[in-house]
Amino acid sequence: MKKILFVTSEAYPLIKTGGLADVSGSLPKALAEQGEEVRILLPNYQAIKTDEAIFFKSTLSIAEAGGMVAANILETRLPGTAVTVWLVDFADYFGLPGNPYVDASGVAWPNNAARFALFCRVAVELAMDRGYLGWQPDIVHCNDWQSGLVPALLSLEQPHPATVFTIHNMAYQGLFEKTVFTTLGLPKSLWGMHGVEFNGLLSFLKGGLAYADHITTVSPSYAEEIQTPAFGYGLEGLLSHRKAVLTGIINGIDAEQWDPETDPYIAQFFNAKSLGKKAANKAALQAKFALPINKKVPLFALISRLVEQKGIDLILEGLEEMLAQPLQFVLLGSGDKGFEQQLLAFAQRYPDKMAVFLGYDEGLSHLIEAGADVFLMPSRFEPCGLNQIYSQRYGTVPIVRKTGGLADTVTDALPDTLADHTATGFVFDDATPGTLLETVKRALLIYSQPKLWRQVQVNGMKKDYSWSESAKQYQKVYDAL
Ligand code: ADP
Repeated sequence: MKKILFVTSEAYPLIKTGGLADVSGSLPKALAEQGEEVRILLPNYQAIKTDEAIFFKSTLSIAEAGGMVAANILETRLPGTAVTVWLVDFADYFGLPGNPYVDASGVAWPNNAARFALFCRVAVELAMDRGYLGWQPDIVHCNDWQSGLVPALLSLEQPHPATVFTIHNMAYQGLFEKTVFTTLGLPKSLWGMHGVEFNGLLSFLKGGLAYADHITTVSPSYAEEIQTPAFGYGLEGLLSHRKAVLTGIINGIDAEQWDPETDPYIAQFFNAKSLGKKAANKAALQAKFALPINKKVPLFALISRLVEQKGIDLILEGLEEMLAQPLQFVLLGSGDKGFEQQLLAFAQRYPDKMAVFLGYDEGLSHLIEAGADVFLMPSRFEPCGLNQIYSQRYGTVPIVRKTGGLADTVTDALPDTLADHTATGFVFDDATPGTLLETVKRALLIYSQPKLWRQVQVNGMKKDYSWSESAKQYQKVYDAL
């Protein structure tokens, strides 16, 4: 049994903006089930919602730009589990309306560097058992740039617990002006090309990549891709230098939350043996989006942050032609205002074929997975991706670009994979609207052959995406440290 401090800026169901929250909400649980003692460290955002009791644990004195400040540690549980969560309570930074990264009007917090530097410093105090909690971890497992300074700061403490840093998305790096490094009062020895400096800027991410004892990322393909200029954002050199301690481990999914046999958000439970019942969810989804209720027409779906990473522009460019096909299309997402407006405009022009729900809606995302026939995920890059996995579990056949975790989790429907029952979706390589459209047509062709389609659905539904296998791989990483 190892003691693991799991440092993260979001964890489902307490607070979620994306896939990191799903991982932070389910990996610690899976590790606990396999005998590890895990505690999650999370900022005490105002937006956190829980019915679990919250207790005061201790007050820590933390170095800040202007001197020492007091931060409280509160204790709660990850709802519905026995996993302990420690909340870093510092109202000036975290007690305001908004989400972890942006304020209530959607603008990035201007003091993000200070907010997450404080969070990291608290993590270091707890890692060194200086938080009056009587608990010292063997491993500090950090996630994404918000906890990137933890391995860097811990490297200055002797002896210190081993550190693991997981990259969930290289596109977000926590880059700030050099002056921020100075104002934050970070130790001078951390500055420099072997430290947290990146082209004259302060990079929180590099604190993790340069100093962690082990680096992981969320799929084997992404682990390779980030060692190349196209995906490495200038950090590919450092990553390939560290490749001996870089491992790709595919994310699992929370198989209880995402289970078509028990999902409380869907209209009708179903499984691989009762796929016919999926039709009730399709009808509910068509009704919800005010589309014609039609069992036969293939229903395409997309759930996503509406940002360029997700290939929304590819969809927009090909949408006119896509909507000329015999299909319906529902979309749930929010993000780039330009994308939102263009998508809405299409929905208004084609009210019988396309409907859009702008916003974030957990329940609706489950109904979409249950009711759709095809799920679109044409990402330009995708560290792991979760919706293509949820889709397979719900018999919704994904169309994905061959990148990162999408390439690792979806098997293209080709003559040989159809023959040996391994096909689970449709995969394309070129990031062009034309190739996406061709793939949509490829899917329509198989859809028109119900027996073949059902087989692809069942192949996906039978795959095991639970966390237990991936958690074992993390345990191997911990054990090797
Ligand atoms: P990323 O972390 O890059 O956003 P992932 O596919 O790894 O992408 O995870 C996204 C998670 O957020 C999934 O669980 C997805 O269902 C969810 N999600 C994204 N947008 C929305 C939305 N508008 N409403 C509900 N859930 C959403």
